[in-house]
Amino acid sequence: MHAAILTVGDELLAGDTENTNATWLCRQLADRGVSVKRVLTVPDELDAIADAVRVFSANYDAVIVTGGLGGTPDDITMDGVAAGFDRELEANDLAREDVERTLAAIADDYPDLNVDIAAEATLPAGARPLLNREGLSPGCVVENVYVLPGIPGEMKAMFGDIESEFAGSVVSAFLYTEEPEANLIDRLREAGSKFDVQVGCYPDREQEHNRLKVSGEDAAAVEEAKNWLAANVETVAGENADDA
Ligand code: ATP
Repeated sequence: MHAAILTVGDELLAGDTENTNATWLCRQLADRGVSVKRVLTVPDELDAIADAVRVFSANYDAVIVTGGLGGTPDDITMDGVAAGFDRELEANDLAREDVERTLAAIADDYPDLNVDIAAEATLPAGARPLLNREGLSPGCVVENVYVLPGIPGEMKAMFGDIESEFAGSVVSAFLYTEEPEANLIDRLREAGSKFDVQVGCYPDREQEHNRLKVSGEDAAAVEEAKNWLAANVETVAGENADDA
């Protein structure tokens, strides 16, 4: 499975908010063997969202979008996704029930809350709603595009409900070495050409070692490449003793 992540928000592009959603989602998908091919951040602009959704939906097996879903004027993620599929926005009964349930649960704490329920429960036509256990605005799935909230806690809870829909066959193995990166180039290249794997080298200044990552969709090839590197590179114990 090849995936792409689209994060929406002016505040991300201005550096006001760190894009933790993208990093968190990349890790979740990688843990499930999914290969993430693109991460893109776009402003709160309808056309930018729609264009990205159109291209990513056509090119990847799954697309995860995070952004403002609510009723405030800059929450145009749903509008952008609907436009990307040339669909109208329409009231969704299940989404409305979810919003009403949430409002009933918090009514005592927020007696004066003035929520436009119809706006909150509006999804692209034909979308499958995703309930929001941690907040108000439901997400949805349109074809292969999953639309989740921007608020990290809400996004994580909603991803938990759909995580079983993401599975791939990429596996990874790690080695650690104190040999200088420049000296490793030939051996890294050789490992990458001998075996059907990708080999990455990531210097870690704090640990004063280089982390070698071997990954691929063929588990046997990853294991062989790891063993070949272990025999040809001076390795040291790493963060995870099992990986050394
Ligand atoms: P709701 O979707 O419930 O209506 P909202 O419209 O306010 O909430 P956003 O506008 O996306 O949702 O942002 C809510 C909060 O989440 C903001 O503080 C925002 O900076 C943060 N946020 C949005 N996107 C990300 C991201 N990619 N990574 C980390 N934080 C994010």
